Amino acid sequence: MDKMDKNIYYILDASAFIGGFELKDSLNFTISEISEEVKDLKSKMIFDQAIEDNILFIVEPDDLSINELNNVISYSGDTLRLSNVDKKLLALAIDFSNQGKKIKVVTDDYSIQNVLKIINIPYRSVLTEGIKGIYNWKKTCQGCRKEYPDNYDDEVCEICGSKIFKRRIKLD
Ligand SMILES: [Zn+2]
Repeated sequence: MDKMDKNIYYILDASAFIGGFELKDSLNFTISEISEEVKDLKSKMIFDQAIEDNILFIVEPDDLSINELNNVISYSGDTLRLSNVDKKLLALAIDFSNQGKKIKVVTDDYSIQNVLKIINIPYRSVLTEGIKGIYNWKKTCQGCRKEYPDNYDDEVCEICGSKIFKRRIKLD
């Protein structure tokens, strides 16, 4: 086996820097927006130093991977939970995966982890224990438990007037 085949490409979320993930060898990747999410001094220093040391590279995902991701999350119900930055990071993971690279995403974000589980891309968390199953979210009334579609914009229930929250449902 080629030595390169064994190398894992790490894709780093902002939480990797904030959580103090130790960057190994030279195959660490992220997207440009993460540099703006890494705000505190210590994490920013780790980030900038890694760029300078050529062990961290900023790359842009392919548009096709973004489309592929949008198909997945429209089904899983994660669309509402993911920021544009999250989506771009996931698209990059799909990109690398489609290129046959061995990857691991480093993130503490449950919504990102949930999507990675669905698309079968390995991940590890920095601070928190990773989630065990696959989850979906359902808008639900706190009072009468009526469930609403994702596009229901009101914050209160049309029947009982109670607050609506997003309930996490475990799928298997
Ligand atoms: Zn209600």
